Amino acid sequence: MSISRRRFAQLLGAGAAAAVVRPALSFAEAATGAFPPATAASEMVRLSANENPYGPSPKALRAMSAAYDRACRYPDESADALAGSLARLHGVGREQILLGDGSSEILKLCADEFSGPLPKEKGKTAGGRLVLADPTFEAILYHATMNHAAIEKVPLTASYGHDLPKMMAAAEKGLIYVCNPNNPTASTTPKKELRDFIEHAPNDSIILVDEAYYHYADSPDYESVIPLVKDHVNLIVTRTFSKIYGMAGLRCGYAVAQGNTIERLRERQSWDSSNVMALVAAAASLEDPEQVAKNRRLNNETRAFTTNQLAKIGYPSIASQANFIMFDAKRPVVPLIASLKQKKVQVGRLFRALPNHLRLTIGTRAEMETFLKAFQEVIG
Ligand code: PMP
Repeated sequence: MSISRRRFAQLLGAGAAAAVVRPALSFAEAATGAFPPATAASEMVRLSANENPYGPSPKALRAMSAAYDRACRYPDESADALAGSLARLHGVGREQILLGDGSSEILKLCADEFSGPLPKEKGKTAGGRLVLADPTFEAILYHATMNHAAIEKVPLTASYGHDLPKMMAAAEKGLIYVCNPNNPTASTTPKKELRDFIEHAPNDSIILVDEAYYHYADSPDYESVIPLVKDHVNLIVTRTFSKIYGMAGLRCGYAVAQGNTIERLRERQSWDSSNVMALVAAAASLEDPEQVAKNRRLNNETRAFTTNQLAKIGYPSIASQANFIMFDAKRPVVPLIASLKQKKVQVGRLFRALPNHLRLTIGTRAEMETFLKAFQEVIG
């Protein structure tokens, strides 16, 4: 650290160097629990992107401060260390982990490998096939559409789970995307249904289970499917450090699958796509189980407060297993989103399958109070 500071001071002059060093001071403040809310920089209360308002673990912040000197090196060693920790955590081999620049990168790799044209068909305009729920997180839909894939959207069940029998019927080779808990509905798909689906899905289709919100789910009817990877070459599970670990801006996610499936994805990936800061912060976060417990507790408390307040005024929410909720706003959501924005509250976007439903990220208690006030003013 001190060498870097001296070098910067020589190169840039003391004033500029002070500005460069300043982030380290705020890291220290953050490590003592004084992390500024994510909205401090602007007046806008941001409840639109399912971010974690409490920030990264103090251990992650300290690890990043200590890693400044490594910024001039390629990230291989930090990537190996994180892949090793994740392999131990999940009880799999290191070759079964693929790190990504956020789990978004992994979703794109999956769309390209499994819903794009087959290698022997390259040059044709027709792509492969993607089966997904409606509504669900659309990143993979976007990439598959760019690949000219045939898209099969299967509406969620009445209890907002994935309709797995219908998805199975629609699956012919290609990629089946299961988001569990599901964005935007925050609902889960019952564990037995998902397990049976994975057992019986045709081997020539790939099942991608996105567990971005895994840590927030505490229903006895929910489970991770990572333990099923060992028996299913066609199963890929993705996780992210953007949610419970509070690292959305750092960009780190990963996939767990069998080694040859991971290899197919790795061949498509840019070299060294994860940066050193994200890697060391992620590895340090895994050493801080208290952060997960604390964030889950704060989310549960603030989510219960928000859903109770909304229910009291006649807006019950879909039961949430995530750090966001969705509720029927009883009016088209697009003008509602715009009106809330005018009151400096940013909420989730339109999901066309549920045009009257609002998706709302659970922020801090103060942020949710601001939302509730603005919402009541807007609906009159
Ligand atoms: N999957 C789901 C279900 C998400 O909601 C998100 C982000 N909102 C992602 C993946 C992408 O997360 P990231 O790229 O930050 O890891």
